[in-house]
Order: sequence, then C-alpha cells, then structure tokens
Amino acid sequence: MDTLFIEGLKENNINKLLSVPKSDLHNHSTKGCRREWLCEKLNVDIPRPPQHLDGLDGMQNWFRSSIKPFCDGYENMILRWEGAFAEAKRNNIVRLVMNFGTAEVDQVGTVEEFKELIEGFHKSYCPDCVFEAELTFPSCCNVDEEADKIDKYLDADYFKAIDICAGENVQPFEAFKPLYRKAEKYHLTKKMHVGETGSAEDVRKAVEILGLSEVHHGIGASTSKETMRFLADNHIQVNVCPSSNVMLGFAKSYAMHPIRILVENGVKVTINTDDLLIFDSSVENEYLKLYQAGTLSAEQLDEIRCVGLGT
Ligand SMILES: [Zn+2]
Repeated sequence: MDTLFIEGLKENNINKLLSVPKSDLHNHSTKGCRREWLCEKLNVDIPRPPQHLDGLDGMQNWFRSSIKPFCDGYENMILRWEGAFAEAKRNNIVRLVMNFGTAEVDQVGTVEEFKELIEGFHKSYCPDCVFEAELTFPSCCNVDEEADKIDKYLDADYFKAIDICAGENVQPFEAFKPLYRKAEKYHLTKKMHVGETGSAEDVRKAVEILGLSEVHHGIGASTSKETMRFLADNHIQVNVCPSSNVMLGFAKSYAMHPIRILVENGVKVTINTDDLLIFDSSVENEYLKLYQAGTLSAEQLDEIRCVGLGT
C-alpha cells in the first residue's frame, strides 16, 4: 500500500500520483505518447479529442483526420515511440508493455535494428523501467502466413508477448491457433484483445482455446458471474483501459464502468492507457477518473496499481 497514492487520489494531487510507481500494460506504442509532448516537439496544435468517438471506426477516423496529419511518416512514428518512453519517465511507469505490429518493425529494418532503436529510448528515458515488447497482429491477418514468418521476429528473443487486436469476431478463435502455438514455442505471454465489444462467452472461449494468461480489455466478462469466476480461478489478468471504453461507447460512463464488477468478483485487473495520444488520458488520470466517479475506492485503486507492478 502506498499512502502517497491514496492521498493523491483523495486530494486530487497530480504530483503525488505522478510520483508513485505505476504500470502501463496495454499500450499501442505508436499512439503511446502524450498529445502535449508531441505538440511541443513538433510545434503544432493537435486538437483534444471529443468526449465520444463512436466505436473503433470513429476512433480510426479521428486519428486519421485530426492527429495523423500532424505526425505522419516514418520519422514521426519514431518520435511517437520516443514520446511513449518520455511519458513513462514523467509518470513513473516502472513496468511498461507496449505492442508493435510486424509492419512497424519492418519499417525500422531487422529486429536487431528495431531492438537497438527501442532500447535506446528505454535506456535514455527510463532505464529502471521493466520494459517488454509485445508483438501484435490485426484480427484480419492471414494467420498461416504470419505464423510462417513469425520466427524472424521471435528468434531475436526481444518480444515477450503476443496479441491480436483491431476488432473482434473477425475470425473464429481456433483460426489463430497456429500463431499461438508458435508463441508458446518461444515462451511468450499469450494475450488477445477480447471482450471490448465481445461477450463474456467470447472472453472465456479465447482464454480456453488460445491458452491466454492475459486479456486486453475483457470488460465483456462482467456480464457473467461464471466467466468472472473462471478468470479469477485461473488467475487471468485483465488489462482494462477505462477512458478508451468510455470514449468509444463500450462503457456507459466512468461511474458505471464494468471494472467495478470485475474487481468485486475477484478478477485480477490492471489499469492502462490503450492509446494515450488519442484518448488524451495518462495513467494517473485513469486512476483519478475512476476515483472521482466513485467507481472504486482509493484503497481498491491502490491495490490495482500494485497488481500492475506485479507485487
Ligand atoms: Zn488496445
């Protein structure tokens, strides 16, 4: 327990919240920097997002129309990665997992070159932060093709986790088995975006079929006591992103956010940013939003913070 963190929540004291060690375990690297940081670096004025972005399509449209024009191209992708580590430093993120697509890695060059670039930012901004790179594939990918090519990314022993993102129920869970079998061979942590829009049944199936140990989002599980018991009994970690859910319309409000039900049912949850550049809410603010909405108590939020640290 950290009294400084609890005080920070109760006193609305951002500096106290920033100073306490935290984690961010669900972070899409190219959108992982702060809007203000990027505006300052590029001397541009990227607009704040509207309160509601209308689902994943609405989010992509906003990103394409209102953010990307300010920071498009290879050099700016690198800058956004740098910004994600700058944010880890500013926010005292001591455990950081960021995901990368294979196309992003390829733009840099070999996996060794990619690793050198990313580790350069890691070492210069937050060397004490435990950083893990996660390899993510879009749910519409050609699984067999990707599974054939995956060794090239995993041989370097840099990626520690696998993930599927960008929309649910695009292919049956079984279809992803070739990728997860490869992931197992390399001892990766197996994760997937599921239960953001999908059902409790989807969450359970994904965990069972693909052998996940972590679920990104997973809020759909909150509608089933049985699924929550299954997640709790199997110690499956659910990496929740409150602002993302509220802004995209997958949770009614912060006060009504399903994280409360997950916590009350013993599910192991963490609190994360998802796409900081889009949702404009950094980790300390995610905790604060849930506290101020009365969703969870300061003590419960501090316990979640500790789960994220792995303590
Ligand atoms: Zn995500």
